Amino acid sequence: MNKNYIIPNEWSIIEEGFNKDNVKSSESLFSIGNGALGQRANFEEDYSGPSFQGSYIGGIYYPDKTRVGWWKNGYPEYFAKVLNAPNWIGIQIKINKTNLDLNTCKIQNFKRELNMKEGWLSRSFNAVLATGEEIEVISKRIISIAHNEVGAIKYSVKAVNFSGEITFKPYLDAGIVNQDSNYDEYFWDILNIEKGTNEGCILAKTLKTNFYVGTAMSVSFSHNNKKVDLEQTTNVQEKKLTYSYNLKINQGDTVTIYKYASYVTSLNYKEEKLVKAGLKNVQQASELGFDILLQEQVNSWAAIWKTSDIKIEGDIKAQQGIRFNIFQLNQTYLGTDSRLNIGPKGFTGEKYGGSTYWDTEAYCIPFYMATKDASVAKNLLLYRYNQLDKAIENAEKLGFKNGAALYPMVTMNGEECHNEWEITFEEIHRNGAMIYGIYNYVNYTKDFEYIPKYGLEVMIGVARFWHQRANFSAAKNKYVILGVTGPNEYENNVNNNFYTNYLAKWCIEYAIESLQKIKTEYAQDYKRVLAKTNLTEEETKQWLQVADNMYFPYSEKNKVYLQQDGFLDKELIPVAELSVEDRPINQKWSWDRILRSCYIKQADVLQGMFFFEDQFSKEEIERHFDFYEPLTVHESSLSPCVHSILAASIDRIPKAYEQYVRTSRLDLDDYNHEVDEGCHITSMAGTWMSIVQGFGGMRVKNGLLSFNPQIPKKWKSYTFTINFRGNVINVYKSQNECKFSNESGNEMTILVDNEKIKIPSKQLITV
Ligand code: BGC
Repeated sequence: MNKNYIIPNEWSIIEEGFNKDNVKSSESLFSIGNGALGQRANFEEDYSGPSFQGSYIGGIYYPDKTRVGWWKNGYPEYFAKVLNAPNWIGIQIKINKTNLDLNTCKIQNFKRELNMKEGWLSRSFNAVLATGEEIEVISKRIISIAHNEVGAIKYSVKAVNFSGEITFKPYLDAGIVNQDSNYDEYFWDILNIEKGTNEGCILAKTLKTNFYVGTAMSVSFSHNNKKVDLEQTTNVQEKKLTYSYNLKINQGDTVTIYKYASYVTSLNYKEEKLVKAGLKNVQQASELGFDILLQEQVNSWAAIWKTSDIKIEGDIKAQQGIRFNIFQLNQTYLGTDSRLNIGPKGFTGEKYGGSTYWDTEAYCIPFYMATKDASVAKNLLLYRYNQLDKAIENAEKLGFKNGAALYPMVTMNGEECHNEWEITFEEIHRNGAMIYGIYNYVNYTKDFEYIPKYGLEVMIGVARFWHQRANFSAAKNKYVILGVTGPNEYENNVNNNFYTNYLAKWCIEYAIESLQKIKTEYAQDYKRVLAKTNLTEEETKQWLQVADNMYFPYSEKNKVYLQQDGFLDKELIPVAELSVEDRPINQKWSWDRILRSCYIKQADVLQGMFFFEDQFSKEEIERHFDFYEPLTVHESSLSPCVHSILAASIDRIPKAYEQYVRTSRLDLDDYNHEVDEGCHITSMAGTWMSIVQGFGGMRVKNGLLSFNPQIPKKWKSYTFTINFRGNVINVYKSQNECKFSNESGNEMTILVDNEKIKIPSKQLITV
């Protein structure tokens, strides 16, 4: 059963009524972040029920020991994870010495809201303690975009039925452990706890990776809206700094605590400057005050929504779904720092270690390209360019030579750091996604110069890898690629995965095509890169041998490319015939049963058709869709979006809609029964593509923006905005109208249903 307790609303995620069973799911769903840091929506006050405490800082990770039974050559040395950082939100509340704990008191009028338009999280409730006192609590929290090392809380308590004493104990707690630690180890070394009057800072260092992190706080109070100075007592424990403030209150009084906090790290400061920097941040935040920080937050989000909002009329759940996806993507990555990337769970959980996957290139780049400045997508590409040496080292470890590069499936710093062998390791298809990302970027932005300057070296390394990884099969008289896992992780160690072979051939051809263009148009760069990589024309001829003679498994009978050799030996029973008790198969079946079944976790052959749509006819795509989709269980969050886009491209709008709902509300309705572990951030970019590329049919054809808008029956209209090569265009589609508004200062030529249309600057046309 899906959970389905989130109240539909256009701009907010809302939960009403307190249900302990939903606490962990809501902690994920109501997460907040600013692209540099973020956290789960844990309560400020104590909570003794099941909870998953999580606060994370981009780029601060730890190389945990891998957990494998039989270690073999080539295994990664460690499994990296973004560290659960010191808790800065904590405020213990005592009423006449009784602790406020939502697990033990009676809760009424509980409401939680994540306001996506303005970027804040709030909670309100009445609590009746076991001792009879009733309080009303209202809290609001932000992680500031304008000051991206700062978070702030405004937390008010009203004495409803008593006069007495209230105690606030704001604290910083560095005793936090990662839930996904392989050996339950503690990853921090506490160096210094700096205490002051109302301010303090804990300086800690990560073990092994030696990142230094300062976590600072500053607190202030108001009593019935008047600022008050309260006397403080300090308690310093080994890993925790707590300040305690007591106040006498009368019935009806409201006391508010303002807590400002900051994370500062050695990624941005010298370690000896961190305590000072953290304290300075919280002092400044406190001087600005909560209301100004909040107003700045509203402004920051207004600017983000201006270029990224999608409006859907007539289907409030779909509207809430798409905004939630866009909101979470922006909370995870804003593209200003090329050292950071997009972990599959962002800052909302620990699964996947906060590391970078092929998800970035295959799914996220289109979203960032079209909703932000081109420099953002470029930063994502540069992240990989900067890690090319490590990818070459990674390939060398596995026996490849001559500058062949194998990008990791899971990485924090360019080194492979996954926790599994057959599945993750053998997914060498990710190497192709690196090149597809470059292709997609250049095709969309026209920034071809990226290739001679940076991309070409990556393309050479990857082409070398494919050339060496393929081998000639005398039996088939073709080149084959053996022992891989395709995107469908429910098949391991297979031969000739169609998607992988196709991508390998394409990568080589694209590298050679780019080399030829660069040779004539960027002669200097050509010389530089050839000298740097020792590439010769003779070598590229050898690559072509492989590309020109690549083997693809094909069924003449079904007229489809086969996912891998031997796929037709399986019992092909459609998913629709599986009983509900068997689903999801990854939670119900043994791995052995999954591996020999025909069930497909996520798009695999169809992933290839999605990437290279132009290279297949519509009939071919239809035939493959009809063959593979009925066997697909969509148990990866990355699955429904690709199917939604493909379904729209073959005019199957009801199917596209069904898959759209699933992708856009995957977390809100908890389709995969795991939202308590965190949200699926990278697939959210796929949700965005489902509207823009799926229903909107947006493509770049011969340098022109092209649309083919269709609309699901249930919707009155939808509107999206995209930025294309510096020009902004707004697309509106209703059941019987389609409008394009050119918001830019230049005339734009676009294709609508393959027809050329010119739109003057600042004009709207109806098609
Ligand atoms: C998917 C992979 C993906 C990973 C991280 C897995 O469940 O099968 O394709 O890279 O999640 O999102």
